[in-house]
Amino acid sequence: MPFTGIEIFKLLPKTNCGECGVPTCLAFAMNLAAGRKELSACPYVSEEARAKLVEAAAPPITPITIGVGDRALKVGGETVMFRHEKRFENPPGFAILISDSMGESEIDNRLKRFNELQYERIGLVLRPELVAVKDDLGDATKFEAVVSKVKENSDGSIILMSSNPDILAAGLKACADQKPLLYPATEDNLERLADLAKENSCPVAVKASNLEKLAQLTTKLTEAGVKDIVLDSGARTLRQAFEDQIIIRSAALNKKFRPLGFPTIIFPCEMADDPMKEAVIASIFVAKYGGIIVLSDFQGESLFPLLVERLNIYTDPQRPLMTTEGIYEIGAPDENSPVLITCNFSLTYFIVSGEIEASRIPSYLLVKDTEGLSVMTAWAAGKFVADTIAPFVKKCGIMDMVKHHKLIIPGYAAVESGGLEEELPGWEILVGPREGVHIPAYLKTWKL
Ligand code: SF4
Repeated sequence: MPFTGIEIFKLLPKTNCGECGVPTCLAFAMNLAAGRKELSACPYVSEEARAKLVEAAAPPITPITIGVGDRALKVGGETVMFRHEKRFENPPGFAILISDSMGESEIDNRLKRFNELQYERIGLVLRPELVAVKDDLGDATKFEAVVSKVKENSDGSIILMSSNPDILAAGLKACADQKPLLYPATEDNLERLADLAKENSCPVAVKASNLEKLAQLTTKLTEAGVKDIVLDSGARTLRQAFEDQIIIRSAALNKKFRPLGFPTIIFPCEMADDPMKEAVIASIFVAKYGGIIVLSDFQGESLFPLLVERLNIYTDPQRPLMTTEGIYEIGAPDENSPVLITCNFSLTYFIVSGEIEASRIPSYLLVKDTEGLSVMTAWAAGKFVADTIAPFVKKCGIMDMVKHHKLIIPGYAAVESGGLEEELPGWEILVGPREGVHIPAYLKTWKL
């Protein structure tokens, strides 16, 4: 549990030297507790106190990284049961399953879907992260070959799945540099997997038949020096798996039970035969509390809703999604092109820019910083009114880019047109549609 300011203060040198940037140790302790200072700012804190403070500050669910580089997946690190309490930190990764018993063309098709099924939404690329390679043949050579193929033909992080440590070791020969997740460590192979994980600096997923045994296995792994652990409670029914997820999260957060303080892996692919049912099950664990979600295959109609659900649940409820203020060129606008203005709430920006694009009329879209508020809310808050819009129009540079003086404002801000004509002398303020869907028809009427 994080220390309070007073508890931190008791561990500090109490010399009030001020080298940390605040005048007293008490002030530093209060800042540290509030997350406004780093412990490293005090050069005089003792090693013993430092160890205690670092231990207390560790998140109750250990963050784990699978893979390397830009595409590495970070899971865990969660601090709350419910999103509205603060936010969820690290979105679950989606994995596609590839078995070494599949034919070459099936493997190729799955890798193609893994690589191609990605979507751009509100300026973000939504895509899956992991390929799970499963040993179904018991053939180390074949497994290694399939892992090599996956590594060469995708940029996803890898899960190696085999209960035989020798086969996992063969898979590691092909992709140890990618820091794959090893699955599953069980009662029977725990020591060997702990050695493999330590030798290759890889995370390891533990599987047990119930939560009590799971906690015993993670304790053994931790004692063996493995810190990066993922949990599989072994449940393969929706009800049991759901209960386990809640109990694991609650034990880690509310009881500070370290043996269950790790992210989880969930297998909807083993809970349903029907792909849509599998997707529905997966959607439940996006919300509660899957760390890695393994699907039997990817199809656009099921993957896209899961990616969007994940995006929504893992956005910070206290921070609206915002687009950067500025001039956005849509199509190839010139000095005669229309100039529209809107707010910087991301959803508004993407709806408006999408409709302008659909109109096929090259245009300039001015995006005014409204702190992520939508047009009506920003207008009501005084952030999208003549007094704030006009200075932005003057300084953003659009006046040098067009030879006309016409500005199209959103229909919901129509009452600002008079004020804007006063603030922007010589400019004609045109009131555009209220709804984005009507923008293409409106732009077709554009003339100088
Ligand atoms: Fe206290 Fe350390 Fe800050 Fe000095 S640097 S005032 S000892 S907390």
